[in-house]
Amino acid sequence: MSMISENLDKVQNNINSACMNVGRAPSEVTLIAVSKTKPVEMLKEAYDHGCRNFGENKVQELTAKMPALNDDINWHMIGHLQTNKVKYIVGKVALIHSVDSLKLAQAIDAQAAKVGCIQDILLEMNVAGEESKFGSADIDVNRQLIRDVSELKFVRLCGLMTVAPYVDDPEDNRIYFKQLHDMIYTDMREFFPEKPLLSMGMSGDYKVAVEEGATHVRVGSSIFGERNYNI
Ligand SMILES: *Cc1c(COP(=O)(O)O)cnc(C)c1O
Repeated sequence: MSMISENLDKVQNNINSACMNVGRAPSEVTLIAVSKTKPVEMLKEAYDHGCRNFGENKVQELTAKMPALNDDINWHMIGHLQTNKVKYIVGKVALIHSVDSLKLAQAIDAQAAKVGCIQDILLEMNVAGEESKFGSADIDVNRQLIRDVSELKFVRLCGLMTVAPYVDDPEDNRIYFKQLHDMIYTDMREFFPEKPLLSMGMSGDYKVAVEEGATHVRVGSSIFGERNYNI
């Protein structure tokens, strides 16, 4: 078996046991293989092993890879998105995870209206308040963003997303995953669908994220190996 297949099995097994720890069904969690910087051949290997959810963080790379693979794939835009790039992905990706402003949500809404679709999105929250990250850390700002975005007609607000800090001990991020979960399940519940989505957890901390209610984990290096940005 190839390295990628083995890694996919390992990650899936870890997801399954994290679910067991807290009495969740593994079917509630979608594993997104984050394939940024990796060649199409590696994505095909993951596809052949059953993977149907891929995450990319750059519009150009995403739209280049899309036609090279089968069309039964759910593509996830997980990286920072500029309003002028929205037109390349709306109606083509299953879910845009990284919506961090009303202005961006409105641009997606306008494009979805234009092409005649409803685009599923998540709002990105900077739960740990890191300066290098996108999204706001201010609870009131985030509450208002949720209210405003839920009014838009051509985007469906499906849930929330966060990129937690890079830490040595994944337990340090548990509190942030809890916060994201609470944001939906306490006072903002009415703005989300019956089964809200929570996109949280990466290679270093996805087990903890699953224990705290993640419905989508975004795992890159634990599947495809370390990324080399210099090639
Ligand atoms: C790169 C990336 C990931 C995956 O990171 P790994 O640590 O390699 O698993 C997840 N989410 C976002 C937003 C990313 O940019």
